[in-house]
Amino acid sequence: MDTGHEKVNLLGMGNEALRQWVVDLGEKPFRAQQLMKWMFHRLESDFSAMTDISKAFRARLAAIAEIQPPEVLLEKDSADGTRKWVMAMPGGSAIETVFIPEGKRGTLCISSQIGCGLNCTFCSTARQGFNRNLTTAEIIGQVWVAARSLGQTPDQRRITNVVFMGMGEPLLNFDHVMQAVSLMRDDFGFGLAGKRITLSTAGMVPMIDRMREVTDISLAVSLHAPNDALRDQLVPLNKRYPIAELMAACKRYVAGRRGERVTMEYTLIEGVNDQPEHARALIRLLANVPSKVNLIPFNPFPGSDFKRPSEESIRRFQTLLLNHDKVATLRKTRGDDIDAACGQLVGQVADRTRRSQKLKTLPLGG
Ligand code: SAH
Repeated sequence: MDTGHEKVNLLGMGNEALRQWVVDLGEKPFRAQQLMKWMFHRLESDFSAMTDISKAFRARLAAIAEIQPPEVLLEKDSADGTRKWVMAMPGGSAIETVFIPEGKRGTLCISSQIGCGLNCTFCSTARQGFNRNLTTAEIIGQVWVAARSLGQTPDQRRITNVVFMGMGEPLLNFDHVMQAVSLMRDDFGFGLAGKRITLSTAGMVPMIDRMREVTDISLAVSLHAPNDALRDQLVPLNKRYPIAELMAACKRYVAGRRGERVTMEYTLIEGVNDQPEHARALIRLLANVPSKVNLIPFNPFPGSDFKRPSEESIRRFQTLLLNHDKVATLRKTRGDDIDAACGQLVGQVADRTRRSQKLKTLPLGG
């Protein structure tokens, strides 16, 4: 009848809202849990396949609702097992999602925004500017698409961890990110423990405090420099929320939670922040912050002047931290052959269009 109305996408609704919605339709509340199990455990998007729901209700669902994941434009497998999806967003842009298997662990790196407005100088996402926030359905939809593509079943979980380390600043899309997080954690959703979900921020200090009030998922901070002068250059947001304030917010986040540590991400860039003096300053800075350091060798991308340090200086940096009892892991570069490595996520499709436009407008001989 009312085909003129847009169907409601159940994917982004969340447990509570879905229950209320079902009740408002005159159905029993447990229908919401049935629907969620079909959506998130069996990864079913077709109401007609949901055989434990009455035919009449299924028909009604199909008329007014949908389970609509993002559309996959491109799926690429790396030789090392990494898989990347480019997903189309309404309006012609795209986002990227990456799966990184490592032994029993399978980490899904998801995006929270189309593009990013923070302008970190070493990050390729910054080059495309900010487009818009993703909806809850678009965020949880990345997990859904990946789980289905990987053949995940309730008995065989492929995605064991989720990290908000794709495109965008998750704390600038707070409500949608937190709604998606609760769907990831919900037993009728993806059922992931909070500590297996990591939110990475460039350092939105007030939002770290807000986050502390609503969740206890793992926190990662893109530090990249041990002093304000240098961090101002790499992460311009530092001018608003300098290191001392950021470290204080990190301490507050883990306060009272024994054993909890904030992950400090540190992208190593040759000649910029990779010298022994930087390592020593970092050790001093983190001395009384419950933290571990994750070193990420810079991944070069076209148009960037930065370089990845030599193996030798990467090891030297790590060893200095380890010698001072600082936990310091080195992130292996994965999915390099499919442009899926850290900081290379640019929403290739949109990027390609722009690049070809640029080529067309280049003056001859220029
Ligand atoms: N806005 C959030 C989430 C994006 S994740 C944040 O800033 O934390 C971004 C992570 O990718 C950063 O921690 C950074 O370490 C990493 N990164 C970005 N560009 C990179 C590059 N070119 N090489 C290596 N790591 C990069």
